[in-house]
Amino acid sequence: MSALVRRLLDLVYPRRCVFCRRIPDRETGFICDDCLAHLPPAPEITGRGEFYKSAVAACAYVGDVREAVIRFKFGGCSFYAEPFGELLADAVRQKLDGAFDLITFVPISRLRRRGRGYDQAELLARAVGNALGVPVLRTAVKVRHTGRQSRLGTPAARRANVQNAYRASRPDRWSGKRLLLIDDILTTGATVSEVSRVLLSAGASAVVCGAFAVTPLKESG
Ligand SMILES: [Zn+2]
Repeated sequence: MSALVRRLLDLVYPRRCVFCRRIPDRETGFICDDCLAHLPPAPEITGRGEFYKSAVAACAYVGDVREAVIRFKFGGCSFYAEPFGELLADAVRQKLDGAFDLITFVPISRLRRRGRGYDQAELLARAVGNALGVPVLRTAVKVRHTGRQSRLGTPAARRANVQNAYRASRPDRWSGKRLLLIDDILTTGATVSEVSRVLLSAGASAVVCGAFAVTPLKESG
């Protein structure tokens, strides 16, 4: 899209902040100055899930962030991947610099992708890859359709729900590499942990994780 078309579109449909939905006083991109300054900090992630070495997140899954993630996943706002990816790339730069060779993502099932039209974690991973200049590769497929993790209470139920739901894809392309595994939300860590286990057993040399938002500990159960 040309700069002129973008400017005309901005006049007709002023770009709203992805978090508070207000039209910013000045052109700030996708996020207003106020929301950027008050992004809820990511709570402690250590101890959630196993198999992966470490994990980072851009912010906490609360308030306006939570609402924005819901629009991103279920409301068709696939373009949120760009601002979310830039925020996550900042967190990765700060805490996981030099810890991975390739970026990958937690896949959704074909059934869900057909319904949604896009794989939100893949879009997020591609935005992170663009921001960091690191290649993004599919490394797994979801072979079993599972119920939504968010509907399950206990960590044990969440682990059971995702067990054997993923299979490695084309390990010849990434075996021996260190992977950064991207997902949108990290709660108990059951999903990223299970995908990490699959990737390591298929030959990845290490897995670190990056989630856009992480739930506060009290909600992680
Ligand atoms: Zn805002």
